[in-house]
Amino acid sequence: MKIAASSETKLIDLLHDLGIPAEAVLLSINGKLVPETASIHKGQEVEIIYYKHVPPLSSPQEPRGHWKRAEYSPNCAHCQSTPIIYLPYANQHLCPKHFKELFEKRVKRSIREYNMLNKGEKVGIALSGGKDSYALLHALAIVKESLPFELSALTIDEGIPGYRDKAIENAKKRCEELGIEQHVYTFKEEHGTTISEIGKKGKENLCSYCGVLRRKILNSKARELGLSKVAIGHNLDDVAQTAMLNLIRNEPMRFARFNEPLENEKFVPRIRPLRDIREKEVAAYAFLHGHQYNSGCCCPHATSALRWSVRHELNSLEDQYPGTKSKIASSFNTLQKIVRDSVKDKDSEPNSCKECGEPCSDEVCMGCKMLSEL
Ligand code: SF4
Ligand code: ZN
Repeated sequence: MKIAASSETKLIDLLHDLGIPAEAVLLSINGKLVPETASIHKGQEVEIIYYKHVPPLSSPQEPRGHWKRAEYSPNCAHCQSTPIIYLPYANQHLCPKHFKELFEKRVKRSIREYNMLNKGEKVGIALSGGKDSYALLHALAIVKESLPFELSALTIDEGIPGYRDKAIENAKKRCEELGIEQHVYTFKEEHGTTISEIGKKGKENLCSYCGVLRRKILNSKARELGLSKVAIGHNLDDVAQTAMLNLIRNEPMRFARFNEPLENEKFVPRIRPLRDIREKEVAAYAFLHGHQYNSGCCCPHATSALRWSVRHELNSLEDQYPGTKSKIASSFNTLQKIVRDSVKDKDSEPNSCKECGEPCSDEVCMGCKMLSEL
């Protein structure tokens, strides 16, 4: 979406008038990223890059928090270059070079802190071609330079025409450029059906089908390929949203699992190297590496209105009280550990699905249940 200023104004005020949290969007002028603290001249056009659809607030709030305080700095905090991003929680403007360096440093720190990777491991990245996995691919390619490990990509085509095709094409191209082996699997070949076909059968909540069936392929293929870990592009926003959703839906035990079995040798552990980085920064990093965000391109089946509302509210809160998402994610980490430790002893023996052999907690896994009911 492009907007032209009718008078000289700060981008942050423009966003406020539109009811859009600055935390939710990237801004570009003439194809170059600019921080929301920058100003725009009369008649100049700014493009608002929605990295996911963001419904504007129905009634914009009073500007407060950093909206009022943040001043544009013409220089990066570390050099004389023009800044392209503003980090409100650190009150810093950064140029592309220093932003990328910070980003990669933080990915390495998370990998170390959570003990995600060891030298020589065989890691597969779940590469959808969206901004998160695209950014993760580039960051892991950098990490590999100092911590050698084997990296390949697993791409899953759920069969959503017009949405996934283009992203998969981009992912393929980028893997070729980076010299990373890519394995592509389709719902049609693995499950005999696609998300579109399931939708045509009148099933609701396609995201549940999509997530369960995708994870099923990911785990079985990772095992077949002999991978020791699967890297997922979940960012800080995803973690904070999931924490809030678990509370809102009264599903406290989900804190323990994160949609994963607690312990099962058939389960290939997942790692989330972007878990401490905000979605906006992940989007900016992907953009700086040439990821094309196709504005308005949302999955036609995206229906989780509650997740979207939570996402929007968290963006507004982060705008007003920078650091909110990190604090929620930290609480989530603490609670996850407590719940995990408390259920470990009581948890039943790890099971395998009697239909497909995949790890599960019942006799039949959720994927097989879903497929048998179609
Ligand atoms: Fe699948 Fe839902 Fe994501 Fe679409 S929005 S790709 S249906 S999980
Ligand atoms: Zn099964």
